[in-house]
Amino acid sequence: MKSGQEYIESIKALGLKARIMGSEESNLTEHPLVTPSLRAMAATYECAEKEESKALFTAKSSLTGKTVNRFAHLHQSADDLVNKVKMQRYAGNCTGCCFQRCVGMDAANAVFSVTYECDAEHGTDYHQRFIEFWKNMQENDLVMDGAMTDPKGDRGKRPKDQVDPDLFLRVVERKQGGVVVRGAKLHQTGMVNSHEVLVMPTLTMRPGEEDWAICFAVPTNAPGIKHIYGRQASDTRKLEGCACDVGNSSFGGQEVMTVFDDVFVPHERIFLNGETDFSGMLVERFASYHRQSYGGCKVGVGDVLIGASALIATMHGVEKASHIKDKLVEMIHLNETLFACGAACSAMGKAWAAGNYGPDMLLANVCKLNVTRFPYELARLATDIAGGLLGTLPSELDLNDPISGPYIKKYLAVAPGVKVEDRFKVLRFIENLVAGAGSVAYLIESMHGAGPPTAQRIMIGRQGDLEGKMVKVKGLLGIQ
Ligand code: SF4
Ligand code: FE
Repeated sequence: MKSGQEYIESIKALGLKARIMGSEESNLTEHPLVTPSLRAMAATYECAEKEESKALFTAKSSLTGKTVNRFAHLHQSADDLVNKVKMQRYAGNCTGCCFQRCVGMDAANAVFSVTYECDAEHGTDYHQRFIEFWKNMQENDLVMDGAMTDPKGDRGKRPKDQVDPDLFLRVVERKQGGVVVRGAKLHQTGMVNSHEVLVMPTLTMRPGEEDWAICFAVPTNAPGIKHIYGRQASDTRKLEGCACDVGNSSFGGQEVMTVFDDVFVPHERIFLNGETDFSGMLVERFASYHRQSYGGCKVGVGDVLIGASALIATMHGVEKASHIKDKLVEMIHLNETLFACGAACSAMGKAWAAGNYGPDMLLANVCKLNVTRFPYELARLATDIAGGLLGTLPSELDLNDPISGPYIKKYLAVAPGVKVEDRFKVLRFIENLVAGAGSVAYLIESMHGAGPPTAQRIMIGRQGDLEGKMVKVKGLLGIQ
């Protein structure tokens, strides 16, 4: 297994390039807009080394019998699934942001299970290919990014009916030894901090849409791949050299738009190729795993938002006010409700035919639907507790300025013993999560990551067994 530093070196060795704010950047591991996200990813390695957390962050590989990072693990029991969300909560506590490594873990578990069932139906050999591929990922402790979301163009049209058929990633050429793919994947969490990307279809494909029913893996630096870095609110504060104003200067998330401009994929890296009848299963399973994930990671970030809210209340000397205590209890209640959902869908998980475990689909969708709401309420309560300075605080440069600094320190003084600098730090940390770069993962991604609320409602409607519930009432009332 790699250390955090070895991981960073291994990403550096890939020589990835990305377009960032209008120019091509090739030294990504040193770029100030990228490094906080790289450190957050590195934390998933460091936690696997630390005495306190290594039991949670490692597991015994079902493929090799060796110890691997849990982010590269194929879950072998409901306990493994519970440990997954516990690990994500812990990582959220350590970083206060999105640590990016879950998408590939979720994609791998989905692909492992679906390829097995696809092979049984179609006589293909995708499962064995994937096993060989994944062994290497585990052995070398590599990061896999998972890529699902296509741009989708005109939402009223199927992939083949779009004016531009590339709006859904597709096979454009079949040749000796592999296929050539073209398209783009949006919202790619941690893409340029990853060694490989596992690409999946974005929706259930129908007969006639075989070219879009494609699943494969390629290195993130494969020829033809272009990365375009996503902006986040207040991101250029990272370029100003004022750590305090960034809010969380140590860690941060990363979102990328990745274009596949005629990328060649060799056969041994293809895990679905035209079997439209298994595309929907793949989408649903990946979504369920990722909806489970949010019952861990968002809770971990929620913990530190609650901690910051309690801390600022104490700094302001209002920690004993009953309305403050009540708001903090409300925040804890909401956050633990999310964790209860994450733990429950994990504990109720079952083995797929392939042998690895997946979460209970209904409960995973309930979990994620709550995640589309509760972090917003937590952010509202944190904003309430923090006060209006959250939106009007002067810069760190003014705090340290010989003319304005003394006034700021005099007039923004709070409870005795509290340094104004520390008050700044906590307010900026809260600002980061409710309105700054951190709100991308904590709020926008809570809404849309792993699918928007309507997608969860559709699944809940399907899995909710209304028929069975009506039968129960009929039985109770003696209705034939
Ligand atoms: Fe992991 Fe959460 Fe980031 Fe998704 S949003 S990659 S589950 S930390
Ligand atoms: Fe996500």
